[in-house]
Amino acid sequence: MRMFLDAIRTLIYPSYCLMCNQPNTPLCTSCRYKWQNSSRDFLISNHKVSAAIPYDDRVARIVLSAKEDNLEAAKDCILIGLNAAFRQLVRVQDIPDATLLISIPSSQAANRRRGGDYLFNLSHQIPKNSKYPISKLLTAPKAPLLFQKSNVRDQSGLTARERMQNMESAIYVNPRIAAKLKDSHTTVLLMDDVITSGATLKSAISALVASKITVIGAIAACASRHQMRIP
Ligand SMILES: [Zn+2]
Repeated sequence: MRMFLDAIRTLIYPSYCLMCNQPNTPLCTSCRYKWQNSSRDFLISNHKVSAAIPYDDRVARIVLSAKEDNLEAAKDCILIGLNAAFRQLVRVQDIPDATLLISIPSSQAANRRRGGDYLFNLSHQIPKNSKYPISKLLTAPKAPLLFQKSNVRDQSGLTARERMQNMESAIYVNPRIAAKLKDSHTTVLLMDDVITSGATLKSAISALVASKITVIGAIAACASRHQMRIP
């Protein structure tokens, strides 16, 4: 029984660092330090965006484990990153009280495969978890505000330009929720796991701006070195 429980625990909380394979911890002290202290802010569609850590193969592995395998330790990592990104964003951008934390939607096919929208679910973890400063300032909506159109092509195998065209009008807004947010002058902070070309985020911002909703910026767990201006 003991061995069985240990095996289950190892499945949920791996006994090695997800980033560097150091034993006995799902995220070692030095990798945790990197997630907490590497944030940078940049601009996308004239909006302030902050990301916690540059995207590389090791970070990609964590993002995949979080969204495809629903691995708790990987999701914790994404939450640490989103919090670090938020701490950076408040240095450069005022966040009004009761700002709504809106996750970037995945494709409907991906949501079906994963049994739910993983970023939307994570957005609900953040305000609940009082160990993060982000929780005091933000609330998550009861229902998703943003959706991805079903005719969006799979991004893999597309050139940067094709990705941009593919995603340009890929995101749409639930009009009923949008009307309420507009009437109550609610501000929105966007959150994503990865920002590479920025095309998805641009599409989300333009859909929200078209619905006359104020977007105060975005946070992401990771972004390409190019976006973060890391040589
Ligand atoms: Zn490590």
